[in-house]
Amino acid sequence: MSKNEKDFQAKNAWLETTDAERKEVFNFNSNYAQFLTNNKTEREFARASVVELEKAGFKPISDYDKLATGDKVYTINRNRAILAAVIGKRDLADGLKIVGAHIDSPRLDLKPNPLYEDGDLALFKTHYYGGVKKYQWVTMPLAIHGLVIKEDGSKVEIKIGEKAEDPIFFISDVLPHLGKDQMKKKMSEGITGEQLNIVIGSIPVDGEDVKEKFKSAILDHLEREYDINGEDLISADLQVVPAFAALDAGLDRSLLAGYGHDDRVCSYTALQAIIDINEPEYTAVTLLVDKEEVGSMGNTGMQSHFFEDQVANLVDLYYDDYSEFLVRRVLQNSRVLSGDVSAAFDPNYPDVYAKHNSAYLGKGIVLNKYTGARGKAGSSEASAEFMGEIRGLFNKAGVFWQTAELGKVDKGGGGTIAQFLANYNMDVVDCGPAVLSMHAPYEVVSKVDVYHTYLGYSVFLEKM
Ligand code: MN
Ligand code: MN
Repeated sequence: MSKNEKDFQAKNAWLETTDAERKEVFNFNSNYAQFLTNNKTEREFARASVVELEKAGFKPISDYDKLATGDKVYTINRNRAILAAVIGKRDLADGLKIVGAHIDSPRLDLKPNPLYEDGDLALFKTHYYGGVKKYQWVTMPLAIHGLVIKEDGSKVEIKIGEKAEDPIFFISDVLPHLGKDQMKKKMSEGITGEQLNIVIGSIPVDGEDVKEKFKSAILDHLEREYDINGEDLISADLQVVPAFAALDAGLDRSLLAGYGHDDRVCSYTALQAIIDINEPEYTAVTLLVDKEEVGSMGNTGMQSHFFEDQVANLVDLYYDDYSEFLVRRVLQNSRVLSGDVSAAFDPNYPDVYAKHNSAYLGKGIVLNKYTGARGKAGSSEASAEFMGEIRGLFNKAGVFWQTAELGKVDKGGGGTIAQFLANYNMDVVDCGPAVLSMHAPYEVVSKVDVYHTYLGYSVFLEKM
């Protein structure tokens, strides 16, 4: 053993991936790419997850009067969060094995009253959601996804900008010839929130007495094509997302570029992991939640009682006699991988990364002992004991892993859903693949990392 072998140095996973395994890695990723392209909102992701779960034999928890080992169940919260479980061989009160991730991603939401006209154009006003660098969202193809609820309660689903024959939408930017003043501004001020207006039309209605001719034309169009009016847009969840498909990146096709890897890469791998396990020792849970990008607030976020309510539901269906004490025991005995993405080292911006504690594309799933900012403020730190368990598990199962902090000390920070699960007195560690250009409309992951994330979540749910 050379002196350096005692030192920790994560290996590049490609080097130890055989040709047969590479095929498997590429296959897994092409399914993921398809799923990512088709599901760009939390509603779409949740609905598609249900389809996959049902195909794999999972049933709604409401179908059961009694739960027993081997039962595969799921429950969905307001079409935007999901819990799927496979009942384990051990007693439920021995705790759950949970992989939790979030299915919301940064985007632009339409304002409640979005429609206006200006300069012979009709536009929609937006309000950005999550950590968005506003300048990244101009002059590129955008799609509108979501749901409109009409006054009588009926639903109109909207998805425009994804099919080849669909129109796309866009946000304009000032031309360089006239952009002198803009270019002198700080990047955070170059494009403002109120400038994130998407162009939706430019043919006016014909009529002397019509005041807002461009707006009227769009209202006519909405009524004709979707049977919705201006007031209907107030009871709507309409999201503006990039109109790109997820695509292979690089000559060697080793990378995958797409919208919403944060955190659908963890959500997808966690979903596949629970679908593929059979007869786990402990009851295995994949928990996919909404609203992480805005602090996990609201009834579909991790801070909602949804999760706890579902644990109570499991206890109620598992034991002959329900008790709150059993619910507490299930919670405190549970262990969690908080699936969320890490920042991949970016050779264009080396200054913000700490060299020895950075995640790199291609080195496998990233274990983040803690997140937070400054003096670990707001972090939920995994204990040495739990880190040890997970490290041992991954090593034994041949899961490629690395360790990282989000960036250099005092350069910034971030949080995940880990802290909210840790509040139940569970062991939790953050663990997911690294992403280049996180929160950009086009984020990039390494295919081998995606695959080892799936492997890591699988062995955690099934073997530990
Ligand atoms: Mn995330
Ligand atoms: Mn995020």
